[in-house]
Amino acid sequence: MEQAEVIAHSYDWGDDGRDGLCITYTYEGIIYFAYAHVNTHYTPSYPYNKVRSVATHELGHSVGLDEMGTGFAVVMNYASNWRYDEWGVYTPQSDDIDGLYDLYY
Ligand SMILES: [Zn+2]
Repeated sequence: MEQAEVIAHSYDWGDDGRDGLCITYTYEGIIYFAYAHVNTHYTPSYPYNKVRSVATHELGHSVGLDEMGTGFAVVMNYASNWRYDEWGVYTPQSDDIDGLYDLYY
């Protein structure tokens, strides 16, 4: 399999504590399809770059990256109130990129 399809969109799925969500479909361990969602229940009150932080995080899942914990100033940190509000992260950081190299090279 040489390519996957990723659909990114935003909608309001309500007050469940999640400002983003990514659902991936895999075959033999390889992602072939992903939905990367931004929850507009929360994001209209966010600064522009915090919305980017949510979207970039979910797109990170769509290419196979997992969550990282609160101690890491990376876009794959699971909580936007840490990665953006604490550290201003909204683009892939070197540890995120290292994760991609581990997956694809
Ligand atoms: Zn996540």
